[in-house]
Amino acid sequence: MSAPDKPCIFCDLINGAGEVSMCYEDSSAIAFMDIQPVNLGHVLVVPREHFESMSDIPPELAMHLFDVALRLSPVVRRLHGADDMNLVVNSGPAAGQNVFHYHVHLIPRKAGDGFDIPLPFPGSEMPDRTLLDAMAVRMIAELRDPVRQQIARRLTVMSA
Ligand code: AMP
Ligand code: ZN
Repeated sequence: MSAPDKPCIFCDLINGAGEVSMCYEDSSAIAFMDIQPVNLGHVLVVPREHFESMSDIPPELAMHLFDVALRLSPVVRRLHGADDMNLVVNSGPAAGQNVFHYHVHLIPRKAGDGFDIPLPFPGSEMPDRTLLDAMAVRMIAELRDPVRQQIARRLTVMSA
């Protein structure tokens, strides 16, 4: 069982120590309305147990949270007349995470709402195909080597 080493607002909400507008719950996950929504209907899907980011959440639990988000998506879309949806995880400070209790954003979108995750990133260049191929080959090699994967996972946890 993970416990936060600093105060955690989402653990407080899960433990009943703050106002929350819960829209879904099961034995390992809850979902509630984001307090500062991009658009009305913006939901956060959150594990009951405290995990900080993608590097420490168990994969089965992360998959369950995505499953819950996918189930909630058509409901949010219908209730809020959304044109489209974003499913977003910010994992780590450099990736824009502000609350360090892992969560999945389910964001209903309307044309012209002004929110943006600009991809392709305007500041990026298109690398040479040989570089993309080399990256792909490196990934395939890593995925085929369970020992290297275990070491990489351990290094990620240690550096988190
Ligand atoms: P992130 O930047 O991915 O960590 O997103 C954190 C999200 O949590 C933001 O969208 C906040 O609006 C939301 N948030 C922060 N505090 C609360 C709260 N007490 N209740 C509901 N949502 C919250
Ligand atoms: Zn927490």
